[in-house]
Amino acid sequence: MNERILELLKDLVSIDSLTSSEREREAAEYIYNFLEKIPYFKKNPELFGKREIPADPFKRALVYGLVRGKTDKTVILTGHYDVVDSEDYGPARAYAFDIERLPDRLRLLDIDEESKRDIESGEWIFGRGAADMKAGLAVCMEHLREYASNPGEGSLLFLAVPDEESYSVGMRSAVELLLELRRRHALLYRLLIDAEPSRRADGAQVLSVGTGGKCLPVILVQGKKAHIRSCFDGLNPIGVLAKIFFATELSAECIDVYEGEAAPPPTWAFFKDMKEIYDASVPLQAAGYLSALGFYTTPGQILERLCAIARTAFADYLSEMRGHYEDYRAKSAFEIRDFHMRPRVFSFSELKAKCAQEDAAGFPPFYEALYGDIAKKLQAKALNYPQATILAMRELLSFARITSPCAVIGFAPPLYPPMLSERLPGREREAVRCFERLRSDSRELYGIDMVKEYYSVGLSDCSYCAVDSAFAGEDVYSENTPLWGELYNIDFSAIRRLNVPAVLFGPYGKDFHQCTERVSRFDLCERIPELMRRVCAFVFEQ
Ligand SMILES: [Zn+2]
Repeated sequence: MNERILELLKDLVSIDSLTSSEREREAAEYIYNFLEKIPYFKKNPELFGKREIPADPFKRALVYGLVRGKTDKTVILTGHYDVVDSEDYGPARAYAFDIERLPDRLRLLDIDEESKRDIESGEWIFGRGAADMKAGLAVCMEHLREYASNPGEGSLLFLAVPDEESYSVGMRSAVELLLELRRRHALLYRLLIDAEPSRRADGAQVLSVGTGGKCLPVILVQGKKAHIRSCFDGLNPIGVLAKIFFATELSAECIDVYEGEAAPPPTWAFFKDMKEIYDASVPLQAAGYLSALGFYTTPGQILERLCAIARTAFADYLSEMRGHYEDYRAKSAFEIRDFHMRPRVFSFSELKAKCAQEDAAGFPPFYEALYGDIAKKLQAKALNYPQATILAMRELLSFARITSPCAVIGFAPPLYPPMLSERLPGREREAVRCFERLRSDSRELYGIDMVKEYYSVGLSDCSYCAVDSAFAGEDVYSENTPLWGELYNIDFSAIRRLNVPAVLFGPYGKDFHQCTERVSRFDLCERIPELMRRVCAFVFEQ
């Protein structure tokens, strides 16, 4: 058992590096100090460092260390040092970051039987971030330290990043650093191992050779405001949005399937009218957003599908409204009303074109001012990305003087493009060869089988290691994402140049993002370090 890894993990977990906060900096500092103490880096100070992320409100940094071997063949070991919030620990919250004292506190909570058994076994380490993913990070750090004392055939590059749990600003900005290091040291990037925790299926460790994608479509519906007394004069945007919700939420029609693996269906995270104060009228606008996970459906296809769904939603709602009106009229002596509404559906880029049509000279400065205002609100945490996206849509509708019923559809950050290592041009076999080697080593040494998964659907930084040949749609995405630019961007051309096959391979963990989050002590201290040593040596031999 490698007790050093356990000590490392204890220290890493004790830093409550909450994602999207200045607390992440302390974790970066700890990792940097760890590297600084390694004799190899004392001798070669130009090979490690801390790189602050440009314009980051929390001044977070990437931490890296490169150990040169005899050849330029390089394996990148990476992990994120941020963790999700600890509110789920309830009364045990004060102990969430203390791996020694937490088990006694967890015993007092109404946790499930399996977790209780795992506490009693002593074979599991509990704590926020223990599994996701400070365990993997500790394994990578210790492996680097060990390799630095006696470098072998290939080179090892370690990279720790922030913000994976929020917007992956760490990995998105690390692409430039990775390209720079490759250039400066003439490295050949053969494989990237993202040491995220692994799950098991029927006793076999699941290794992912790709990562599923995610985008966040945002839908703003404008209806027609009216006094509730004459509600048939209005058009309720909540009703239209509800139809869009039911046509998409958990819908099997929207699922990507690949080789027997299915992406989870879309699910909504927000749905609300836009009234700021209550009044007795049919609301004017309502908005919502949903997570769309997938393997190959492009942002353009998602946008097209949602626009079609929105058109149908308007038509269905209006036709039902007519029916309700007929019923109402049968009971009341009113004049016959005509439903003249002709709702329109715009993608965000179409709305921008309408704005430019309305006032070609005025629109660019207007948009710039709006963008600047949104930036300030985001920084002050008065808005989050999806809220800011809705705000931009509303402001543009007003600029374009569109007051009649319509829907606007676009995207809010983040975008995690799907990436399958087997689809990287010229490098199709590399990740699979490593999987095969890991599998045979794991069976032989530990009697534990491994299975290959094409896509990890948990989202990961591997989305930014390469651009999958099946991914098309970066332009449609950027044109329909109001915050695209300084506030959020992905350098696709740099990622295309990086083009490194990636696998998700780390210690066995359970219940990620829950208070019973835990990592296997055996995997952490023994099995994964040994398999990692072997797979790196294997890649260097190729
Ligand atoms: Zn993670």
